[in-house]
Amino acid sequence: MSSSSCIFCKIISHQIPAKLIDETNNLIVIADIAPKASIHYLIIPKKHVADIQSLTGADAVLAGEMIMMAQKLSQQLMVPNAFKLVINSGAAAGQHVFHLHMHFLSGKVTDPV
Ligand code: 5GP
Ligand code: ZN
Repeated sequence: MSSSSCIFCKIISHQIPAKLIDETNNLIVIADIAPKASIHYLIIPKKHVADIQSLTGADAVLAGEMIMMAQKLSQQLMVPNAFKLVINSGAAAGQHVFHLHMHFLSGKVTDPV
């Protein structure tokens, strides 16, 4: 299911471009358009789910796949044990795009400490 007004659904259906980092049957990973860290990716389910509260038990595998994708991404980076995962859920928590996504944030070895 997708939402015709949803920006991430439009990226998933190639209606608008994004820098694709990885893709599986159920997920895409794109580079955030306004990065808040040296590495800032968005792990996005292809299925339109608005937020964490909208998940059901049937989505448990999907939620697990998001975490396992973060592990895979971390293994490809130079600082594999130094990354953050953030899911903003709800406008008051800073969610702006109402299609579930997990921020993957990491620095690079060359970043100043
Ligand atoms: P939120 O505030 O909903 O947790 O995060 C939404 C994120 O999506 C923001 O970090 C924002 O920069 C990113 N974003 C919004 N629109 C686009 C877009 O069209 N393309 C990409 N790649 N990222 C986007
Ligand atoms: Zn969507």
